[in-house]
Amino acid sequence: MSGETVDWRGGCFCGALRYRVSAAPVLKAQCNCRACTHVSGGGANYFMVIPPEGFGWEAGVAASYSHPESARAVTRDFCATCGTHILSRRAGLEGVVLKVGTLDAPEVFGGPRLAIFCEEGQAWQQVPEGVPCFDRLPPG
Ligand SMILES: [Zn+2]
Ligand SMILES: [Zn+2]
Repeated sequence: MSGETVDWRGGCFCGALRYRVSAAPVLKAQCNCRACTHVSGGGANYFMVIPPEGFGWEAGVAASYSHPESARAVTRDFCATCGTHILSRRAGLEGVVLKVGTLDAPEVFGGPRLAIFCEEGQAWQQVPEGVPCFDRLPPG
C-alpha cells in the first residue's frame, strides 16, 4: 500500500460531518467483536487504520462516546444528528480506525486483510476465504 496516492473523502449519512483521508491506510481489516456488532447493528465492522497525519475533519463537529464499563473501550466519533459512526480511536494506537462504509467511494477498501476478535463473532459474520481470523488481536 506504500506509495499509493490517497485523496479520499467521506462523511456521515446526513452530510453534517465531512472528512478527508490523505494518507494510505496501514491496515485494512474487519472486527467481529461484540461492541462493534452492537454498534453496527449486526454486521462485522469493516475498517481501515489511517495514520494520524492522514485524517482530517472538513465539516462539522463529531460527538464522542466511550463505554464507561469496558476496560478496552474505544472512543467512537459519530454524527449527533444522524447517528452515523465514523471512526474509533483507541488508546495506544496511532491513527484513527475509520469505518469504510462512510467513504464516498467505499470500494477503495477492497476487502479485509485480516479479521479480529473472531471469538466474539456471530455465525453469520463471514470472513473471506484465505483471510486470517484472530481470536482477539493479532500477536504484536
Ligand atoms: Zn449526520
Ligand atoms: Zn470491534
